[in-house]
Amino acid sequence: MKTNNMDSPVREKRLPFCLPDVGEAEIEEVIDTLRSGWLTTGPKTKKFEQAFAAYVGAPEAVAVNSCTGGLHVTLAALGIGPGDEVIVPTMTFAATANVVVHVGATPVMVDVAPDTLNVDPAAVEAAITPRTRAVVPVHLYGHPCAMDRIMAIAERHNLFVVEDAAHSVAAEWNGRRVGSLGNPTVFSFYAIKNMTTGEGGMITVDDSELAERMRVWLLHGMSRDAWKRYEATGSWYYEIVLAGLKYNMTDVQAAMGLHQLARLEEMTRRRAELAARYTEAFRLLPELILPAYRDGVRHVWHLYPIRLRLEQLTIDRNAFIEALSREGIGTSVHFIPLHRHPYYRDRFGLHPADFPTADAAYQQLVSLPLYPRMSDQDAADVVEAVRRVVGRHRK
Ligand SMILES: *Cc1c(COP(=O)(O)O)cnc(C)c1O
Repeated sequence: MKTNNMDSPVREKRLPFCLPDVGEAEIEEVIDTLRSGWLTTGPKTKKFEQAFAAYVGAPEAVAVNSCTGGLHVTLAALGIGPGDEVIVPTMTFAATANVVVHVGATPVMVDVAPDTLNVDPAAVEAAITPRTRAVVPVHLYGHPCAMDRIMAIAERHNLFVVEDAAHSVAAEWNGRRVGSLGNPTVFSFYAIKNMTTGEGGMITVDDSELAERMRVWLLHGMSRDAWKRYEATGSWYYEIVLAGLKYNMTDVQAAMGLHQLARLEEMTRRRAELAARYTEAFRLLPELILPAYRDGVRHVWHLYPIRLRLEQLTIDRNAFIEALSREGIGTSVHFIPLHRHPYYRDRFGLHPADFPTADAAYQQLVSLPLYPRMSDQDAADVVEAVRRVVGRHRK
């Protein structure tokens, strides 16, 4: 039973910020794979690609060893390189922009919308130059971007749209699953994403020729067609047609992915249930700005980031995080915007004043624990801890 003693922490045993949800079926399938004699890319990867494409509603899916690798391969296969600019939101994980640098192009950071913190379409349009080749909307926290506006801008300016869906497997925009809008879309199966293969990722794509180029790029630049063209030389023959990467998914990963995909709807529903509990409780705390949820989307709650109305509190975000930690609650911050990281700040001469929305949000953001393995009591503890910390520090 919980005590009301405000001197002892809400939880004696710390609630971790995040934990993966791996079931027995995943474990059995991984063991089966280890015994099968086929460890790397093989039949299970193929099966996982097909199941994932069918789930998302995309013609084709290409498995990769991470979302980062998938984004890199996608930009490379689209022919983006030196002299090109790629527009990315500043409020994202570094991988979104790092891969632009890896293909030799220039990432152009832009500000975000004040409610969702997703990339601001007006800021995208304002950043377009004759060198712009692509825009990478990130469906942040599990809430899809305003794709109608982004795709209209891209069409007007003849740009590629590459969707970073690392947070947004199972999310929907306008009744369609993320990954089915016709743009190359890259998902993450990192350990703490909405579904996991430990490390892993998937690209959905609606252009089979582009998919084939991705497959060449992700496996050494090896052409799979070579043996067909030189049938007489036998199946050992291949040709390296470009200096490729090594980003293929293993069957061990795919073994996990098949069962994670089967449980995805159930895990997503649990996330939504927990998010609804938070929203109901926190609505009563005017010191907090709650995550946006626009009409016409299905939010999949990869994260539940609250924003602190700092003018109504006596402590800043960092002290708030420390206070929650003393109550036994693990938290995090998503994200430190790119313009604040030394590499991007110094190399591209970025200033916080150029990204007023993202920069202000950064100083307010606290991501609370939210994952399917959390119990109702865990969620109640988070609510109680947040209430206590707000209560002690309201102005
Ligand atoms: C996690 C993440 C990535 C990278 O995913 P990996 O599978 O770890 O490479 C890319 N973009 C965003 C927004 C992410 O959160």
